Amino acid sequence: MKKLFPTSTAGSLPKPSWLAEPEKLWSPWKLQGEELADGKRDALRLSLHEQQHAGIDIVSDGEQSRQHFVTTFIEHLDGVDFEKRETVRIRDRYDASVPTVVGPVSRQKAVFVEDAKFLRQQTKQPIKWALPGPMTMIDTLYDAHYKSREKLAWEFAKILNQEARELEAAGVDIIQFDEPAFNVFFDEVNDWGIATLERAIEGLKCETAVHICYGYGIKANTDWKKTLGSEWRQYERIFPKLQKSNIGMVSLECQNSRVPMELIELLRGKKVMVGAIDVASNTVETPEEVAATLRKALQFVDADKLCPCTNCGMAPLSRTIARAKLEALNAGAEIVRQELSA
Ligand SMILES: [Zn+2]
Repeated sequence: MKKLFPTSTAGSLPKPSWLAEPEKLWSPWKLQGEELADGKRDALRLSLHEQQHAGIDIVSDGEQSRQHFVTTFIEHLDGVDFEKRETVRIRDRYDASVPTVVGPVSRQKAVFVEDAKFLRQQTKQPIKWALPGPMTMIDTLYDAHYKSREKLAWEFAKILNQEARELEAAGVDIIQFDEPAFNVFFDEVNDWGIATLERAIEGLKCETAVHICYGYGIKANTDWKKTLGSEWRQYERIFPKLQKSNIGMVSLECQNSRVPMELIELLRGKKVMVGAIDVASNTVETPEEVAATLRKALQFVDADKLCPCTNCGMAPLSRTIARAKLEALNAGAEIVRQELSA
């Protein structure tokens, strides 16, 4: 029988301090050339070991070889000039200097496939691999070529599909697209956001997921959350269409968020990765707190479709805290497993 409540993480995990400055996003690498390539592989091994030690069932690379969940993928594409930078407002929230799309975008060669093969060699456990979603990608760029968010999103979807097919062939079990932008641009999500995501998964036989959160625990995001009022109902705008889509799993932020849990009901039939670990706080959840979140979610998602997860990536946290949080996630899932089998 398949294990009930397989645990997983939303994506990134902290990097060792010899590879990049810890507790920081976009942290520069401390190594170069061959040493950097070796260092990334060592960090991946370490990250896998830490997930396994904490008892995580669906493991990942911890995004050890990426500086950032969106930009690292885009860096490998043609048509984007990283020297030519413009300041844009990201997710309607904060200004950032971003690269410019200067011509047709394309992928000359695989971006993460070698890393995925390497991870596949290290473990027989199910592997989840995260890619940025098309809408979040276009939201992190200045577009001087297509001059249409939708057109550029469709181009990225095509490229993501090429990468996803190769990741699947490399033995990845679940391909996840990170779409925090889905919590902001509701009309676009419904008009073409979900459709471009379906284009990105076209032809895949492995499981597919979309991660929709309220962002990393950085100041711009925590400040934004304070403006969202006592109930966060953003998911309500996009779940009905998502429920009808071909995407198999949805990864959500639940722990310490003001998302009314009953919104999960709108996804009935989908697998739900329930965020039971807050990544914006250094307070480590107790297993009982994790269990309480999972129990609440169980009212709205079938037990065989619930995967306990983190709210978002944990890259900005310390390794000690991230490890403790993963252990709490696993211990909390085990409590609910025991209850259900009793
Ligand atoms: Zn996230």
